[in-house]
Amino acid sequence: MLWPATLGLLLTSTLASPLYSRQTSTLPAPGTRGPAPKSEWIAVYEAAKGAGKIPTFVSAKLSGAGNPYYPPGVDTGENGVCSWSAAACFGDDDISDAPDGMYGVSFDDGPLPSSPALYQFLQKQNQTATHFFIGTNIVNNPDVFRQALASNAHIGVHTWSHPYMTTLNDTQILGELGWTVQAIHDLSGGLIPKFWRPPYGDADNRVRAIAKEVFNLTLVGWNRDSDDWCLNESGGSSCGSYGPKSTDDLENELRSWVVGGASPGIIGLEHELTSKSVGGFVNTYAGLKQHGWDARCIPDLFNLSWYLNSATNGQPIKSGVSIGAGLSSFPPTSSSIFEPTSTTSSPSASLVLTSPVAAVESISQAVQHIASSATSYLAFSPFSVPLAFVLAAGLLA
Ligand SMILES: [Zn+2]
Repeated sequence: MLWPATLGLLLTSTLASPLYSRQTSTLPAPGTRGPAPKSEWIAVYEAAKGAGKIPTFVSAKLSGAGNPYYPPGVDTGENGVCSWSAAACFGDDDISDAPDGMYGVSFDDGPLPSSPALYQFLQKQNQTATHFFIGTNIVNNPDVFRQALASNAHIGVHTWSHPYMTTLNDTQILGELGWTVQAIHDLSGGLIPKFWRPPYGDADNRVRAIAKEVFNLTLVGWNRDSDDWCLNESGGSSCGSYGPKSTDDLENELRSWVVGGASPGIIGLEHELTSKSVGGFVNTYAGLKQHGWDARCIPDLFNLSWYLNSATNGQPIKSGVSIGAGLSSFPPTSSSIFEPTSTTSSPSASLVLTSPVAAVESISQAVQHIASSATSYLAFSPFSVPLAFVLAAGLLA
């Protein structure tokens, strides 16, 4: 808990500090592959590279069949590059299983015109989910993005242009991740995402290290794959002999998950690509609940904060956190500061605003939140951060 005297000091410090500078940026054109990164992200990357934190691996190539592959002799397993695509290798810090009895709900590839029906359904069910968004789709569908936030969707990163990340060079990887983080930040009123999912699951330890060391992003995979992306809008398959052939096929697959073993728990790969993929989840959700699964968005499976600078949507946004400032800018105690105080918080209307007025409202609401609820939540300013870290080390278990 936070002592009243400390609370007063932090609030005073916050109020006396310069207001948030919610710096927005000119985003790359939609669809740009490996857009040029900001110079400050490159600087952080070079420091991490110089410190030996980012391995030098050859980039994969893409075969004619669309599979990434490495030159002969490259060890793709856990003692080598640890490629998920080539060797089903997970990184040490990757998330792919849910705790026993839990079901991690996640959707890739939004925001898209097929998405709002999903958001409305999830909100009606009071069901949180993680949505791994493509930067290009955010730019193309900003209103749908705002609908997602307003419905209390948890937002993660799914790259700018949906490439096979292992086929890119380091600079391109920086751009794919950084600009998607930037788009989410700019359109959400300042939230900085904490989780990402590589398109096609394609990552190796070079890609993982860039995501972690520069952007402090944690990779989220899956342990069930619905292949729901195979269904096109007419309900047929785009995948030939692979994957579900019909909506019935998809729903049968999803129902098979929830009657299977509960250890480990499930993290399912689903998409908000089409009304058919959305319908698969909607039409089988009742069965998921009936079988007793504890369904949550990804961070709530592990009682983690939703973002690097906020516990959940609608909570105070910590100032002083920059995009791509590097892992070393987050002391080990910092993650525990942002443990969500509740998994049922509702979104704040201010989240969907990006004007300076909205920033002021957010600060005001943050102060009111702390003052009225007397939670252990800390309000930050650039001047209070060091103090807060010292306090957190002593206050939090
Ligand atoms: Zn995808």
